[in-house]
Amino acid sequence: MTNQKNIDYELLNHTANPDIVEKGTMSDFLDSTRNESKQKVEAILGQIDWCEGGKGFIRCPGADEHTSATKSKDTVIYLDGAPTISCFHQSCAKKVQEANRSLRRALVTGENLDLSKADMKRRNIAIQNLERLELKTRCALPRMLRDYRWPVEAMLKESCVETDPANHAHLLLECFSEGDIIWVGERYDSGQERHRRHFQSREDWLARSGLPIGPLTCPSTFKEGSYSRSNENVLEQRFLVVESDLLQKNEVGAVFRWLREKVGMHLVAVVDTAGKSLHGWFRYPPKDVLEELRIMLPALKCDPGMFKKAQPARIPGALRNGEHQRLVFLDKEVA
Ligand SMILES: [Zn+2]
Repeated sequence: MTNQKNIDYELLNHTANPDIVEKGTMSDFLDSTRNESKQKVEAILGQIDWCEGGKGFIRCPGADEHTSATKSKDTVIYLDGAPTISCFHQSCAKKVQEANRSLRRALVTGENLDLSKADMKRRNIAIQNLERLELKTRCALPRMLRDYRWPVEAMLKESCVETDPANHAHLLLECFSEGDIIWVGERYDSGQERHRRHFQSREDWLARSGLPIGPLTCPSTFKEGSYSRSNENVLEQRFLVVESDLLQKNEVGAVFRWLREKVGMHLVAVVDTAGKSLHGWFRYPPKDVLEELRIMLPALKCDPGMFKKAQPARIPGALRNGEHQRLVFLDKEVA
């Protein structure tokens, strides 16, 4: 990635502003809202059906304006990036935007926050910057989906993935660095001494044959001797996994392609989860890029849950409902 300080997000008509990062306003704001209690957010938005982490499903604030049937999982709230409500429908966009605005303002002016006037001002500037970037990103999405279209078929053509998914776990694990301790398992294979076997070195996993010992792995690496997939045990965040609950499999590729071509992120692999989504595995970006991604990804209808250090992701090769999770793209240079 060259010249990180001056990324020109052409499509958004936006140039990354290093001041935001250096002054830390955005980071401060995002970090403080990330830790807000779920009860507080519920007090503002009403009942939320929480999934893991800071993600939940809500009734869309613009549901009355939906032009097709509203389903229970159409509208998501994320707390891990910038606090963001995102809806599958388009007709409610204005209402959703207003709701995002009042949610963030409510979180900023929380009564239990004892902020000086200067801090309050910094926070307000941060929100304004955030909203500007978010709006630009949201408006650019339809064009991105059209101009950067990259369906699964095209990924397969461009990549060097062999057809037998039984070897796909190895291909992904090879993308880690020598000596990395990597976790593989079921979601709850963590926390007890007996889970130690789920934390092995890259080389040990590569020496093993057969399908992976669970459907999940983690894009972060762990400290030697770990048996718990906790934030404290994370050594390095090697990859940022981008996925979307709201975009179709053949749509989300456009976001991957744009991040790759225009933001300069290094896309290493794309995993078909044998469910509804694709996971784009990117090399973990530098801090200034990351900062803006926390705002842009939710606006691109992508799930910012993967910013969490120890978040699991689907490993290719493993079976899910009788179907293989598999690689549909692997960067030729790392293969
Ligand atoms: Zn909606």
